[in-house]
Amino acid sequence: MDVPFLSLREVNARYADELKAAAGRVIDSGWYVLGEELTQFEREFAAYIGVRHAVGVGNGLDALALILRGYKELGVLVDGDEVIVPGNTFIASFLAITENRLVPVPVEPDPVSFNIDPACVEAAIGPRTRAIMAVHLYGQVADMPALVALAQKHKLLLIEDAAQAHGAMRDGRKAGAFGDAAAFSFFPGKNLGALGDGGAVVTDNAVLAERIAALRNYGSDVKYHHQFQGLNSRLDEIQAAMLRVKLRYLDEDIAWRRNVALRYREGIRHPRIALPAVTQEDQHAWHLFVVRCAHRDALQRHLSAHGIQSQVHYPIPPHRQPAYTTLRDAHLPLTERLHNEVLSLPMGPTLCADAVDRVVEACQTFECPI
Ligand SMILES: *Cc1c(COP(=O)(O)O)cnc(C)c1O
Repeated sequence: MDVPFLSLREVNARYADELKAAAGRVIDSGWYVLGEELTQFEREFAAYIGVRHAVGVGNGLDALALILRGYKELGVLVDGDEVIVPGNTFIASFLAITENRLVPVPVEPDPVSFNIDPACVEAAIGPRTRAIMAVHLYGQVADMPALVALAQKHKLLLIEDAAQAHGAMRDGRKAGAFGDAAAFSFFPGKNLGALGDGGAVVTDNAVLAERIAALRNYGSDVKYHHQFQGLNSRLDEIQAAMLRVKLRYLDEDIAWRRNVALRYREGIRHPRIALPAVTQEDQHAWHLFVVRCAHRDALQRHLSAHGIQSQVHYPIPPHRQPAYTTLRDAHLPLTERLHNEVLSLPMGPTLCADAVDRVVEACQTFECPI
């Protein structure tokens, strides 16, 4: 049998009874949107991250976009303001910026961690820069101490795209608790995944949280009174109930992911396969285990021939996508090289030790084409 990249069926089968009971509770309640499950989940998730407020929304992209939109409604951001963002991220980070008529300024990652490089951020700060969007790529927190200092020095907003980093930490503080606001995704494949789409904004800023809570619900503060031109992006009661069950197991799942990562890091010793660098042991949430290889496609074919699924996160950087011809001239050689070399090995809370050993063995027998 193949080693799957991630079996969502297995992930959720572990709590099938609890999930069905929770869904049944919602079905029987007769209340399906903006109810008690969401209120409870928002409280529990905020407490888990260590912030004052969480606002459940429809997905991770909307969470990011609503942070920026909230700051526009508060008059902090205006059309044309620049947001510095890592070039090597999922396209959602860029889409959230451009859908708000703001300007993404992509910068290079740190060559060791692949997370946004604070030195490149500082070099990119100009008269229209208003915000830095850090992405905690693959489940490892970016260099937030340096970015917090930069944001303070230059009076910039600091926003976290924490869609890959539920439960990740740095110096014991959780991803999502460093910036002015952070966005999470509960897409089924994330570390904390719903059984459908979902997302949340977290922040200590009560005014921003209130504004976003209105914006996600047609811009309504009081029923049928519309203060803002909002949208409809709400985390529904069934998904909130699913997430309340799964949040209780998140730390266990991350502990297992760490086990898998440790086994990979000890087992894979191949001169042409570079292992991911870990900034702080026991703080990485290991959403993805990403190796680098100059012959990435050959390695992927080799693993596939040995029954091992792998994926590329991501094959084309946003500035090279047809959607962003406006950014085509961005000079980001490291970003582009990473996209040609990265390969994500199987990773997840149900990946058994035997499967991990099979992946290690298959990597070890990879013969590099000359
Ligand atoms: C998944 C992801 C998103 C978007 O989340 P959705 O819920 O799929 O909209 C945003 N940023 C990053 C880095 C992601 O990995």
